[in-house]
Amino acid sequence: MRKDLYALLIVAFFISMLLSLPAFAQDVVLKTKLAVDGQGNIIRDAVIVVRDGKIVSAQPNGRVPSGVREVDLTKFTVMPGMIDMHVHIAAHFDETSRERPSITAFWAAGNARQYLESGFTTLRSLGASNLVDVDLRNAINSGLVPGPRLFVSGEPLNESAIKVTDGEAPMREYVRKQVAANVDVIKVFGSLSSRAGGGPTYTLEQMKAAVDEAHKAGKPVAVHAHAAEAVRRAILAGADTIEHGALMDDATIDLMVQKQVVYVPNLYLAEYYLANAEKFHFNEEQLRYTRDFMKPRAEAFAKAVKKGARIVFGTDAVAGLAGHTAPEFERRVALGMSTKQAIVHATSTPAKALGMAGKIGDLQPGMVADIIAVDGNPLDDIKALGRVTFVMKDGKIFKSAQSAATIPLSVFGRE
Ligand SMILES: [Zn+2]
Repeated sequence: MRKDLYALLIVAFFISMLLSLPAFAQDVVLKTKLAVDGQGNIIRDAVIVVRDGKIVSAQPNGRVPSGVREVDLTKFTVMPGMIDMHVHIAAHFDETSRERPSITAFWAAGNARQYLESGFTTLRSLGASNLVDVDLRNAINSGLVPGPRLFVSGEPLNESAIKVTDGEAPMREYVRKQVAANVDVIKVFGSLSSRAGGGPTYTLEQMKAAVDEAHKAGKPVAVHAHAAEAVRRAILAGADTIEHGALMDDATIDLMVQKQVVYVPNLYLAEYYLANAEKFHFNEEQLRYTRDFMKPRAEAFAKAVKKGARIVFGTDAVAGLAGHTAPEFERRVALGMSTKQAIVHATSTPAKALGMAGKIGDLQPGMVADIIAVDGNPLDDIKALGRVTFVMKDGKIFKSAQSAATIPLSVFGRE
């Protein structure tokens, strides 16, 4: 009798081993009625197989294989994880951090989590002090804290650090210092950061020197520029992306389209600034140009859409805006961008601009499994992009309908 029991236990043990170790035991299969890929194409009754952090297949009318972990997303629309090309990952309102910089690091980690739970699996952060962004990127990559894949600039270059009279050598020096600090992208203020009008900060030669030094190190250059001449200099110097571009004229937009330079407009930020002016301690001049730039910014954006510029999604998320991205999508669609374009510009287009084409920003086999689900069809209702119900990054689930956002939005300074 005892022998039989042992035999039974041994058999049971081997059966359990077999059940737990079939060839694709770690597969996760996402099932949905509607998926929209990074080209804005529809996949109906999609079955997406994920293995070892990668997408194995994303097929229409697919059948769910047996013995896998199935995630039922049939009530939602499945998409690639979104990409915001201009955020400030460490931005916050906590003024006690002046004495204690570690507070900024905690806020940065909180912001990162907020972005991830709002469906953004990759971000480009263009400006943070004390290399908090570099350290956060590394902490996320090592699994220490949850957050999106980060591409970071560290401290940007502006006219208070290097002046127009300083010439080209310090521009190169600045870039070399940033590269040594292990940033992913060089951020230069090509327009004055603290004065109205948005005129150019540096000579064309200075801008060329910065871009040349960055490209030698394999780093792209993002230029903050508003006035047409500032944008023109950035483009002619070989900048990879133009940030803001609120005061561009037709000729500058044409040049941007001709050179295929990536354009990162931000349409909602000014409204947010005006609604929270006292929190940001804006003076009259800052308020005036925040207001003055709104109309030309909207016009430049609408023209850029019509002329076929390479536009990508970017919020310029400052304090209190982490993960609050739906209004930016809404403004873009209201100014003439199709919902399909808006989706493509937040997925496959920025992936390409980050040098990550074929790796992120789409649902193709072999790509990283950065996959989200939203409540509603964003092709019909762009606001659906603000209703993220499921987030997978690198094949790991960070949010699902069963475990909703864990951080209330009010913690992050929004009403
Ligand atoms: Zn910015």
